[in-house]
Amino acid sequence: MTGGKHDLQKARPAINEEMPEMMKTMNSATAVGETRLREAISRLQGADTWVFDLDDTLYSSETKFFSQIDRRIGAFISNLMGLDPIEARKIQKSYFSRYGTTLKGLMDLHDVQPDDFLNYVHDVDLSQLTRDEALVSALKGLDGRKYVFTNSPLEYARQVLERLGIAEFMDGIFDVAASNYIPKPRQPAYDRLVSAFNLQPAKTVYVEDMARNLIPAAKMGMITVWLCTGEKWGAHEHDPEHVDFEIVDLPQWLAGVAEGRA
Ligand SMILES: [Mg+2]
Repeated sequence: MTGGKHDLQKARPAINEEMPEMMKTMNSATAVGETRLREAISRLQGADTWVFDLDDTLYSSETKFFSQIDRRIGAFISNLMGLDPIEARKIQKSYFSRYGTTLKGLMDLHDVQPDDFLNYVHDVDLSQLTRDEALVSALKGLDGRKYVFTNSPLEYARQVLERLGIAEFMDGIFDVAASNYIPKPRQPAYDRLVSAFNLQPAKTVYVEDMARNLIPAAKMGMITVWLCTGEKWGAHEHDPEHVDFEIVDLPQWLAGVAEGRA
């Protein structure tokens, strides 16, 4: 996947000296200005639940770990349809864009069994992921229930959390099977998440690297945090109206939030 750099600077107003200390510790702000930022911080302070995306959010996209899975998705399509890698890649991107996940397109158009696909594409080397002390420490200091909301399968998600050293902090994982293979950003996935964990959207913070996945959450009233990785696919369909906080370093930001509450 080729990465295009999103313009980070444009999306951030200057943090001025009159802002509360907590705002200054944050490495971000949204484009719509100080008033909205203050409101968002106030809502953040009242939040009692955290929902995190998994891939490229709880581990850094700089690991390029997900590219292993991305390549295996291409190989799966190539094998299934007898296509060369370039044609397979076009199909992969087109389904991803239209259906939310490549899997959903394969299920709807090609009768692919989800487990066949998920087992194949997640058969990757996890050794690249290692314990993230900064994230461990940040999650330890963060109040509230914590969940993972992912388009990936459960067992893979569990293994990733174990590798990162953060499994113990999570109260539950909502995977793609739990949403009956209807992926983010489709609305039923969010409705099922809310009902599965009995969430109050207005008190729920949702953190994601893919901006488009924040839109349904924002419309439901969740507090949305876009982890901007600088990758083109993360910024796809980015809409500042549906982003309360834009951040570049998750552990650092979470640590700032925890301190601001204390
Ligand atoms: Mg992600």
